[in-house]
Amino acid sequence: MTDVRTQDKLYIDGAWVPSTGSDMIEVINPSTEKVCGSVPEGTAEDVDRAVAAARRAFDGGWGQTTVEERRKAVARLAEALEARSSELGDLLATEMGMPSLYANLIQAGLPVANTKAHVELMDQVAWEETVGNSLVVRDPVGVVGAITPWNYPLHQIMCKVAPALAAGCTVVLKPSEVAPLNAFVLAEAIDEAGFPAGVFNLVTGFGPVVGEAIAAHPDVDMVSFTGSTRAGKRVAEVASATVKKVHLELGGKSANVILDDADLEACVPPGVTFGCYLNSGQTCTALTRMIVPRALQDQVVELARQAAESTAVGPADQEGAQIGPLVSAAQRDRVRSYIQTGIDEGAVLVAGGVEAPEGLDTGYFVQPTVFAEVTPDMTIAREEIFGPVLSIMPYDTEEEALAIAEDTDYGLAGGVQAGSVERAMAFARRMRAGQVDVNGGAFNLLAPFGGFKQSGTGREKGRWGIEEFTELKSIQLPG
Ligand code: NAD
Repeated sequence: MTDVRTQDKLYIDGAWVPSTGSDMIEVINPSTEKVCGSVPEGTAEDVDRAVAAARRAFDGGWGQTTVEERRKAVARLAEALEARSSELGDLLATEMGMPSLYANLIQAGLPVANTKAHVELMDQVAWEETVGNSLVVRDPVGVVGAITPWNYPLHQIMCKVAPALAAGCTVVLKPSEVAPLNAFVLAEAIDEAGFPAGVFNLVTGFGPVVGEAIAAHPDVDMVSFTGSTRAGKRVAEVASATVKKVHLELGGKSANVILDDADLEACVPPGVTFGCYLNSGQTCTALTRMIVPRALQDQVVELARQAAESTAVGPADQEGAQIGPLVSAAQRDRVRSYIQTGIDEGAVLVAGGVEAPEGLDTGYFVQPTVFAEVTPDMTIAREEIFGPVLSIMPYDTEEEALAIAEDTDYGLAGGVQAGSVERAMAFARRMRAGQVDVNGGAFNLLAPFGGFKQSGTGREKGRWGIEEFTELKSIQLPG
């Protein structure tokens, strides 16, 4: 495991500089409850400095670079990140608690793969096209403020930073104060990759101070936010005063619909362990509502119980652990209180519960939990829990299954399991969600990602992710 990391400077205008404030934020290892690092508690003045640097860098050249120049820079960044990927995997496991094996594969592996992918994705963007007498040009949107969460910290960051840089934007990043250490490794990698000063800037701190200063700043052209729907609404509100472009990747309460001819043994256990519990349930696309034919509920419940009880919970550095702790004491308490609410509102507790898992009194652990007989009006069926808690909801007809799946303010993800891909596809087409997995279809880094309804606006990933950081300009040519 990584030693305590003290990062006492911010990265602004190509240099490591002290914050104008003097306070630091401690980072806690959720597996041990011990301090594993600290970062500056940035200020609105720090944001002003960072935005001014980003503006100068954009106006002074980065905004006019060619695709070829940017491709080379992004390729160097991908190399610099890849060279540090095992350090990043261990650091991410330490600061946010995902077991090391998965943290290396997912928390470090995804952002490296995603950054690399941008080298080629840049060719898929129609930077210029002719429509009648117009040349339609994609210009970089300008200075981007990126605000990111702690659950897949570096992945969420690189879903913004890689496409923004590829598009020719400059960036001011505010990572989550809960898991910010990885962002310092990124800043070092960017420095090493030789980006011009001011193209990327890092200001750590709290959302209401640093985040809102970014969203409100008149010189920030676009704010790209990933996090809770609550904070996203506030960001959109603050940003509206300067009519900047607002891109929001928010929460979810996604449905995994099992149709009556599905192979239960094949779809229920992975639906529980990976669909719902991956990263201790702290995944925005977690399939937390398993919607099942009433006649099959008992069979599904038994398979789900076995899957929950065989999910290995442990500290991030414990070999064999499938899920680690929740990220913080606050998050653990919140999830336990949802479990209590589920019990109080009459859902049937099948596995797990409010007590800490046996032998795991230190660290922010929660038992993998399953509820059955959950109805759409219950709190646990409506609100994003962000913990390892599955709600099994019975239905009588396929129309009712769809109605339950759609009875939510969110529209981020979904899953459909059926006896044939054709049948599952027909159902998937009717769901209002940004990405739907059919019969176990895997996550695809190159496909667009984002939400319908209150799960957000705009799309990340693939060429669509780069296009998000551009503005269209029509140049009318003489006839
Ligand atoms: P959060 O909303 O508490 O924080 C996210 C970021 O916003 C942090 O950097 C935080 O400091 C900042 N922030 C908080 N209040 C702010 C404010 N008033 N103004 C500006 N910035 C503010 O979310 P979290 O707890 O870090 O992450 C979990 C949430 O993120 C979940 O709801 C999850 O579903 C969502 N999420 C969504 C996606 C997606 O792509 N749709 C991906 C991952 C996580």
